[in-house]
Amino acid sequence: MAAYLQLANIKKEYNISRTETQKVLRDISVEFKPGELVALLGESGSGKSTLINILGGLDTNYTGSVILNGEFLKDYTERQMDDYRKKRVGMIFQSYNLISNMTVLDNVKIAMKMSGVDENIQTERAVNLLKVVKMDHAAAKMPNQLSGGQKQRVAIARALANNPEIILADEPTGALDKESAELVMLILKKIAENGKLVIVVTHSEKVASQCSRVVRIADGIIAHDEKAAPIKSKYRPRRPVRAGSIRTGNIMALSWNNLWRSRRRSLLVAIAMSIGIAAVILILSLSAGITNYVNEVLIDDDSLRLEIETEDEEDFSNAEIRNIKNLDGVSSAEASTVSRNNVFYSYESIDGTLLTLTAAEGTFPEALYGSTPSEGGLYINEALAEELCLEDESAEDAVGKTVLLSMGEGESISLAVSGVYEDSSSYSQLCSAYAEKSILEALYASAERDMPNNRLIVSVESSSYLSAVREDLETLGYTVTGENASLGDIMSYIDLGTMVLTAVGGISLVVSAIMIFIVLYISVIERTKEIGVLRAIGGSKGNIKTVFLFEAGFLGAIVGGIAVALSLLIAVIVNVSTASLGVNIVAYSYGLYYFAGLALSILLSVCAGIAPASYAAALDPVESLRRE
Ligand code: ADP
Ligand code: MG
Repeated sequence: MAAYLQLANIKKEYNISRTETQKVLRDISVEFKPGELVALLGESGSGKSTLINILGGLDTNYTGSVILNGEFLKDYTERQMDDYRKKRVGMIFQSYNLISNMTVLDNVKIAMKMSGVDENIQTERAVNLLKVVKMDHAAAKMPNQLSGGQKQRVAIARALANNPEIILADEPTGALDKESAELVMLILKKIAENGKLVIVVTHSEKVASQCSRVVRIADGIIAHDEKAAPIKSKYRPRRPVRAGSIRTGNIMALSWNNLWRSRRRSLLVAIAMSIGIAAVILILSLSAGITNYVNEVLIDDDSLRLEIETEDEEDFSNAEIRNIKNLDGVSSAEASTVSRNNVFYSYESIDGTLLTLTAAEGTFPEALYGSTPSEGGLYINEALAEELCLEDESAEDAVGKTVLLSMGEGESISLAVSGVYEDSSSYSQLCSAYAEKSILEALYASAERDMPNNRLIVSVESSSYLSAVREDLETLGYTVTGENASLGDIMSYIDLGTMVLTAVGGISLVVSAIMIFIVLYISVIERTKEIGVLRAIGGSKGNIKTVFLFEAGFLGAIVGGIAVALSLLIAVIVNVSTASLGVNIVAYSYGLYYFAGLALSILLSVCAGIAPASYAAALDPVESLRRE
């Protein structure tokens, strides 16, 4: 059913300043019927465009009623208003408002895409409409390759795309030469003859003379209404049309198109941003790689042992040992022995007491000469080595000498010195040694004394637990000895370094987010007019928002892709040039960090895009269309 359009007491005023308003439409009441070609005349500034924007559903801020087939536009929901613009009105503007980066064909199809028309129907119908306006030969051209008249004909085809009941043309011939203007008018006339209501805003009396009816606006009212045909038919209200919605794929195509249009800028920004993301990926990979290096190359089983002692030769109780075993990161705790002030040594005419004789388990201080007591020898500190030496000998000469050990009672055991170690304890000036646990057992057995369990070898699950376990043990009041006690420190330095670098990376991410925000914001500003066009052909606020969010998402994906490539490249270069370490110093980490980097880029980008996208969605369509 064709349209019966009624305007009743339309009033519209603009706020010029806070206190001043300008009444543009004072009281417009008029009726239009299908098949009419109406010329809307009036001085410049008389409110013609204002009225057209109200009829087109772009401006809803007026008083009075616009009634289409008995339905009040004021009663429409936002969704129904979107449908109204999609399906029931087609708008044509003086400045054509084609979308510049789409072909002629796509410019017509976009209106159908907005209302979810089937893809295969779109092209056929678009081509037919281009034939109607005699522009089918230029379907593949871009708008900037067309003359004004040609552009306007494409705009007419677009306005007709969803077969609306009403065509609103705001000075469609205003920018055209005589011939083009005549052709456009001819087309509009035909459209009206086919039963649509066509309202043409014009200055030109000549254009007006071609119309079936002339309506003049002056001083905000209808000053003249010539040739108004009486409206006979009685229209019954009908159900609001439900137009389909644009498919997500089409929205994505729009977003991608926009990104492609500003590809140089987008690429530059993406490269700049990807540095931040790549830095984060590299920092995490490097930290994992160094940890691997420490674990695989620097750390052997010995490194994962901590030794603790009681001060006073007291044994560790079973409860204490159980308690220590239960500490987080502790895999086992084995009781061992250190004998204090019990064992005497003698070598030729030299003798004395050992401050400590420690069961050779766990780790050992570093050897200065010779080797650790792994094959049954005695491992002595420098103080003892010097005791064993003759005047012209040095500590090194102690290696190989055979020393007798005893506990006073019972038998003596003779042992060859396997090596001399560097004693870093605070008793380094006193004699101490390490011997296999079996030697201590034999000594205690022959002296008929119980061997103490005053030393505990605590094994840690992995190097990452070292410092934590060490701290726990110290908190419990034990003295931690053992050469690799400091390895935990290295690990915590690595952790600290990672944290600092990650913080730096985090800052670069914030900078990246700000860049995305700025780029999208600029993109919205640049495309304000286009946003107006999309809204005029029925795009909802949500559609506009989604277009920009997808654009942000795509940009984020590009950033992530570049970042992954960049960090992989750097990782390979670093790893190849440090191949001698035997470990990838920048861990590849099974792609986890790379995937996380990509996901982070997209997420960050979309989040940063929310504000510009919302801004774009909230733009006033009329204002947007005015933008040049
Ligand atoms: P016409 O299309 O008939 O030339 P318009 O409808 O564009 O006139 O404008 C009518 C009057 O309203 C003009 O005086 C114009 O300056 C004013 N006007 C239009 N849009 C706005 C606006 N957004 N804010 C303030 N004044 C406006
Ligand atoms: Mg105007």
